[in-house]
Amino acid sequence: MAALDWRDARHYDRTTDKPCRWCGLPTPLRDDQRRPAHKVCAEQQQNTDTSTPPAAAVPVAEGGVLPQLDRQEKSLAHWDHALAAAHFAAERGMRVFPITRMKKPAIPSPHPPGHERDECRAACGRFGHGVHDATTDHARIDAMFRAAPWATGYGIACGRAPHHLIGLDLDRKNGLDGVAELARLAAEHGFTVPATATVSTPTGGLHLWLTAPPDAVFPNSVGVVGPGIDVRGPGGLLVGPGSYGARGRYGFASGTDPSTVAPCPPELLALLTPPPAPAAPVVDPAELRDRVRQQDAYTRAVLDGEAAKVRAQSHPGRAKRLFASAASVGRLVHAGTIPEALALDTLLDAGMATGLTRSECERTITRGLARGAGTLRSAA
Ligand SMILES: [Zn+2]
Ligand SMILES: [Zn+2]
Repeated sequence: MAALDWRDARHYDRTTDKPCRWCGLPTPLRDDQRRPAHKVCAEQQQNTDTSTPPAAAVPVAEGGVLPQLDRQEKSLAHWDHALAAAHFAAERGMRVFPITRMKKPAIPSPHPPGHERDECRAACGRFGHGVHDATTDHARIDAMFRAAPWATGYGIACGRAPHHLIGLDLDRKNGLDGVAELARLAAEHGFTVPATATVSTPTGGLHLWLTAPPDAVFPNSVGVVGPGIDVRGPGGLLVGPGSYGARGRYGFASGTDPSTVAPCPPELLALLTPPPAPAAPVVDPAELRDRVRQQDAYTRAVLDGEAAKVRAQSHPGRAKRLFASAASVGRLVHAGTIPEALALDTLLDAGMATGLTRSECERTITRGLARGAGTLRSAA
């Protein structure tokens, strides 16, 4: 079917904008059934909808002249649609910048390749720094789109004021189902996925928009939180609703309120935050020496002696030596002569000094102490 002729006044509602039934963004236009729809969205739908005549039925001129024009027209319509959508997002506090059909920054870098290009974060005042160009300023958005007439979409910079946006990119392709995985995580960790602005992607996935506390620190990640769940935070970007990419349209998912961006539940935020770095040495040497010094001379001699034996042991026999020392000390722990916590810390400090890991030491010491106390029957 040829492009719809919507110059007819019946396709225009001058009283009110309504959400386009395909992309969810406001439009004064109405389709043949008087339903709100952008012309470009309705035509795109017509081309992908299997109930409409197949592509072969579209009258195409020989020689490629008309299709060429069609492509230009379509590209311009996509540019228009993306620009209006970018303004709509900016009004809701999203920082935006134009991108291409391939989801890349539409404005090339003003810097030659090299140090300056890598370092400049738009401080030079020119456009072309990708996510660093992102702004809510309407005049700058217009200027950027004018500088990139080939843009068909816009990116949203995550992690920036006022929302400190988190984008949860839930894939539903290649056997992954990020939506189901998020539901599983919610059940497991006891949180509810809030009703929030949600974008549907051309491949059937969803982007959930959530706000984060300004000081939240978490990495951008792919499939780390769960299979099919990608996380976009500070430094990351999302393709904005109303963009056209090579695979099709990004629009607000039906039933979504574009103006409601819900806070990320704390339990979910904790899942996005990486576990703390490996713990520092458990035993503070100075404090340990102090504790040993407070013991009577006999206890001091036993602890210092066993620790010295462990430290002096060469590589192959380390664990065996640690076990034997723990067993010796364990007898005195069992007799109530040496505090168990002090025995454990002293042996742990000595064991880790030999290069054994903390968990290897803890396992060996626990077994050794038990042997000394007579509660471990089996051989080491
Ligand atoms: Zn639309
Ligand atoms: Zn620059």
